Amino acid sequence: MTDPLNLTPGDARDALAAWLAARGEPAYRTRQILPRLWIRPVGSWDQTTELPAALRRDLEVSFPLRRLTLTARQVSADGTEKYLWDLGDGEAIESVLIPEGKRRTLCISSQVGCALGCVFCATGRMGFRRNLTAAEIAGQVREVVLLDPALMPTNVVFMGMGEPLLNWDAVDSALTILNNSDGFGIGARHITVSTVGILPALAKLAGRPEQFRLAVSLHAPTPDQRHALMPIEKKYPLPQVMGALKQFRRRVTLEYVLIGGTNDGLEHADRLAELARPLGALVNLLPLHPGGAPDLTPSPRTQMLAFERRLKRHGVEAVLRRSRGLDISAACGQLRVELEARRRKVHSQEHAGVE
Ligand code: SAH
Ligand code: SF4
Repeated sequence: MTDPLNLTPGDARDALAAWLAARGEPAYRTRQILPRLWIRPVGSWDQTTELPAALRRDLEVSFPLRRLTLTARQVSADGTEKYLWDLGDGEAIESVLIPEGKRRTLCISSQVGCALGCVFCATGRMGFRRNLTAAEIAGQVREVVLLDPALMPTNVVFMGMGEPLLNWDAVDSALTILNNSDGFGIGARHITVSTVGILPALAKLAGRPEQFRLAVSLHAPTPDQRHALMPIEKKYPLPQVMGALKQFRRRVTLEYVLIGGTNDGLEHADRLAELARPLGALVNLLPLHPGGAPDLTPSPRTQMLAFERRLKRHGVEAVLRRSRGLDISAACGQLRVELEARRRKVHSQEHAGVE
């Protein structure tokens, strides 16, 4: 029994072809079956009515399609949609679909929780639960398409729960599934991996021939300031991360969450510009989502605009992002808050039952 959705399209093709050949099926069956994994996905093999019934039943046994179960779907006033997926082992993850003109960006999770404990992040506060498999990572796209083919994402960002470069093997396969023409066929330039800068895996990502986009979470312009926000600074210090980015042959994005009175001063902008300019990096300024950190305050809008202007004056390309899906706490990197509240509620209900 193999979960074909956990294989790269090339490996899935080989596994199917070998299995079909052993059964004496004609070779064209592989070309019928493979597109049902990702290109025109089916929820289960019995929906592949183009295949003989006996073959469908045997596929169900030998290549079962493992699903994520949708347990909640919320639509924000601005069109942002949030999905809560049950993984079947008591764990749950979220994805967010952000429509913008002709674009539909799906923000996906790579781990359940996160071990890195950045002080402003809701996922960080839940701690690390487990890695997702490649099937669970790419499955977030697949399930959205199964809900409605018109929702097929044009862009994917690894900015949901987890640190993708601490789950490299699964992310590596998932990137192939997302990008390959026998997978979802999403262009590498439309797929962004967001990371705090895990150096060994960063080198592996850089080594892939496709032009996947890289976003690095900086959040502070000096090692000391960064360490106060992101414990990982101790293991992978800012100067080394910046050094690695210089080796990266592609343009990178630097992410910077603006926290009131903490990292949003114009002197921070000046130091940040010194880091960004030599790289020719784009700086993404993110308003702090209040759900992640009750003790931190978002930067006032006038301050955020002044910060952005200051970067631009230094010749750095900077974009102040709008906070999307605030009413359903759907901001990327913020996919934990409601879940936690829901768990607490369930827990207290169970408790009440016992009493
Ligand atoms: N672990 C990876 C990817 C997931 S987090 C990373 O940290 O890059 C995705 C993005 O959401 C990161 O840039 C993160 O800094 C940001 N983020 C986390 N908490 C946030 C909050 N409270 N408000 C705004 N952005 C936040
Ligand atoms: Fe983990 Fe990213 Fe959140 Fe930091 S910001 S705790 S690395 S998910």
